[in-house]
Amino acid sequence: MRGWLIISITLLLTACSSTPINQQKVDYLPQTGNPSNNRAEVFIQAGHEGRSSGRVGASSQYGREIKWTPVVADAATRYLRQAGISVIRADANWRSKAYVKLALFIHFDGVAGDACRTGASIGYDDSSDRPAAMAWKRLYSSYFPYNWRTDNFTRNLSRYYMFKYTRTKDAELVLELGAIGCRAQALWLKPRLEKLGKLVAYFAARRLGYGDRIQKPIM
Ligand SMILES: [Zn+2]
Repeated sequence: MRGWLIISITLLLTACSSTPINQQKVDYLPQTGNPSNNRAEVFIQAGHEGRSSGRVGASSQYGREIKWTPVVADAATRYLRQAGISVIRADANWRSKAYVKLALFIHFDGVAGDACRTGASIGYDDSSDRPAAMAWKRLYSSYFPYNWRTDNFTRNLSRYYMFKYTRTKDAELVLELGAIGCRAQALWLKPRLEKLGKLVAYFAARRLGYGDRIQKPIM
């Protein structure tokens, strides 16, 4: 009898604790620049999303960057909003100032030539972003088992076009999550896109001081 009581209470507590914090209907659709909604804690952009010409991103036989970045960005947004953290979820066409604590632009690399020589990297426009950049590198290095390029190894990384639209308290970072043209990296990345989104959300929550709100993912 007592055993059953303990089991019942445990089940009840489990049910309560798994109820989402935020039961409101949430909108994960990317925004293309809405001046009335330009303040949030985190800004997340899916690189190249919403473009049909011009810089449409890297691709290989293993996948297309433009398809992968929204999966990561949507998952990150979902985890953050469920944890009660506000997010502007932008696509590549965002064109208004956003006032946030942390801005993260999601990309995958696609350098021509020996695709496996490249890998993950980070882009940022000044030294105030470096502490957050180093923290991401430390965290992602403990998962991503391939090469890293030096920070800002291309102009597109240090002069990312969207830096001029984000005003951040902590940092604005281009996160290149790996090389889509390298077979080993692409096959590691592809089944983990949702988890990468959770890792981005976990990172953002920790940077903002909400470290306990999102669990560290296991990959
Ligand atoms: Zn890209």
